[in-house]
Amino acid sequence: MCTQTIAIHLPDGAIREVPSGTTPLEIANSISPRLAAASVAARLTPLAVPQPKDVDCCCQAEEKDPSAEAEMYAAGDAAAARLVDLSTPLTESTRLALITEKDPEALHVLRHSAAHVLATAVLELFPDTKLGHGPATDSGFFYDFHRETPFTPDDLVLIEAKMAEVIARNEPFQHEFISREKSLEDFDRDGDFMKAHFVTKFTKPGDNVSFYRNGKFVDFCRGPHLPSTGRVKAVKITNLAGAYWLGDEKNPQLQRVYGTAFFSKKDLDAHFARLEELAKRDHRLIGKQLDLFSIQELAGPGLIFWHPKGAIIRKVMEDWMREECLRRNYLLVYTPHVARINLWQTSGHEGFYAANMFTPMELDDATYRMKPMNCPFHILIYKNSPKSYRDLPARYAELGNVYRYERSGTMHGLLRVRGFTQDDAHIFCMPSQIEDEVVACIDFAESVLHTFGFKEFKVELSTWDPTDRAHYAGSDENWNLAVNSLKHALDRKGIAYKTIPGEAAFYGPKIDIKLVDVLGRLWQLSTVQFDFNLPARFELEYVGEDGEKHQPVMVHRALFGSVERFFGVLIEHYAGAFPLWLAPVQVGLVPISERHHEYARKVEAELKAAGLRVEVDTRNEKMNGKIRDFANQKTPYILVFGDKEQEAGAVSVRTRAKGDQGSIPLAEFIAKAKALVASQSTEL
Ligand SMILES: [Zn+2]
Ligand SMILES: [Zn+2]
Repeated sequence: MCTQTIAIHLPDGAIREVPSGTTPLEIANSISPRLAAASVAARLTPLAVPQPKDVDCCCQAEEKDPSAEAEMYAAGDAAAARLVDLSTPLTESTRLALITEKDPEALHVLRHSAAHVLATAVLELFPDTKLGHGPATDSGFFYDFHRETPFTPDDLVLIEAKMAEVIARNEPFQHEFISREKSLEDFDRDGDFMKAHFVTKFTKPGDNVSFYRNGKFVDFCRGPHLPSTGRVKAVKITNLAGAYWLGDEKNPQLQRVYGTAFFSKKDLDAHFARLEELAKRDHRLIGKQLDLFSIQELAGPGLIFWHPKGAIIRKVMEDWMREECLRRNYLLVYTPHVARINLWQTSGHEGFYAANMFTPMELDDATYRMKPMNCPFHILIYKNSPKSYRDLPARYAELGNVYRYERSGTMHGLLRVRGFTQDDAHIFCMPSQIEDEVVACIDFAESVLHTFGFKEFKVELSTWDPTDRAHYAGSDENWNLAVNSLKHALDRKGIAYKTIPGEAAFYGPKIDIKLVDVLGRLWQLSTVQFDFNLPARFELEYVGEDGEKHQPVMVHRALFGSVERFFGVLIEHYAGAFPLWLAPVQVGLVPISERHHEYARKVEAELKAAGLRVEVDTRNEKMNGKIRDFANQKTPYILVFGDKEQEAGAVSVRTRAKGDQGSIPLAEFIAKAKALVASQSTEL
């Protein structure tokens, strides 16, 4: 018998020749014992698969669909990259990357292992319990249990304590295979109807079924797992909810126990501190506290009512945007909210986008639909008169209201709605003008983000996959030109970006700009998108310098993205404490007693004349109560005045951030506040 040798390609380019059967752990140990100790699992990528591209860990990623069961139970695709246990014997040459505790993927392995620890603890305490589905999620894990008596809060405390024991026992997770027939027999005998269901659904007769054992506990799954239970360093049960088996209320009710796990207590504490911070900043909560907006049951979900204080912020945002558009040589337009179905047929929305649109309305002359996008309307304006190269670039901008169908139950405050306002623009230009236009768009986007107080952003360039030609509209020449223009534009701006091949829309490549908020969350708002499709569908043209007719190129771009969503992000970014220029009430006036009311009116008049938004509190309340109320409304400046200030023509200034700043002449305060507003400063 001869020992076969396989080649292991490491991420640094090194290739190790090892005997077949060597494990990733042995390879880690041969590199460094410290690396081995820090490793959690290994990623194998078959040599035939191209080098894996970086996967962005997007903080906003929605919770994984917990019903994604195939991922947990079905055999993996051997031709694709996959994670395996450190103890998996390697039998073929492959690329290998060790996953350490620092890798985002490691958390998933940890949390799935924590779900096994949870099930181990539950079965030790409550042996009659039947197990359902127990996956890792983006924020932790859960396990579905079936038991006649529901768990009580006290039970959860016991379970958590038992989990600590299972972890302390440091039981190795061992991968085993059992014949499908035997495993189904065992599950049927023990009344494990849920496990039997998963085995039946995700394996085939004759298969050997993958199981993981720790101590006496055995569970059906394809792994991978941590080397042992002791590697689950910090775990917490977070809540308990009811769920029906297979989501059908005619089925037995299950108890879903949720938890989360980290590699250290410090990370776990940071996670809960962050959740608390997120809850405090929730724009729905702050929107109510500050009376900024509402959603009305009588009107329907996903439709936003802007209250006076929210509306004034919106006005400031929109004024800034329109002024900036004009300064940058855009042309402002307004277009209707509905159009005949014929327009949507020409644009193609009636086909590929119909499921996202509000259903049609029958009128006496035709069928109409609400607009989900503004593009076709701007195109009609372009087409309304002949264009020559001298008219290009033509940049049409609109704060356009669009309506998109979102399933009921999926709406979320200002972030996911059915009606919203895009700060939309469409640029029609000659191919030779693309690059300059894209540079200008990126410059504009940067200006939006900086002005509204975001210091950091990430840029992604989505390009096509030339091997999947049928999937894309437009010629090779156009695609190459557009992709290169986008690249050159980013390079000219000196912006670092990540290229994502194959992620472009079928009609053209795009640049997405994700802002980073104060909590480090990424938000996708601004986008600059090429389009080869609509100019062709609408047969757009211009007369070139050569006197011939040509087709212009079209760029869609939105910078706030959606005014509603951008506002939601602003509320959370500032926790409602808006910079002076955006604050609905910029200055709160607190006369100490009734005899200062006349002076209060004079101060109010002067501030208003200077363009500042003011509110006077003349209620018969104590001074401190009035100050507190303005502070609760996160009013940037509170001016207090009594006899002394009145005589001196002064005001005593309190700022939201720094408290009492002492007395200054009113004129001096006004000059300072005006300057801060004019410069859109985030300071007070
Ligand atoms: Zn498992
Ligand atoms: Zn568009």
